[in-house]
Amino acid sequence: MYEMRAESPDGLGELLWHVLSKEPSSGTLCGRHAPPPPAVPAISDGTAGERYCAPCMTAFRSAVQAHADNALSPEAA
Ligand SMILES: [Zn+2]
Repeated sequence: MYEMRAESPDGLGELLWHVLSKEPSSGTLCGRHAPPPPAVPAISDGTAGERYCAPCMTAFRSAVQAHADNALSPEAA
């Protein structure tokens, strides 16, 4: 029910992977327009890298865990 979407937030080639919800009214799990976290480390080796959006990962884990809990709960079916 979720897919990954990469974007290049700074246009320098680095990819930031967001989790995109399939629900029509919601975009990425982090809201995407939120300001970037203040402690993004600079890439010093000169190569573009890939990062995973921390808020998206946190929300994704919570969603997956909630789904698993529902699946394991007989009365939720
Ligand atoms: Zn995100």
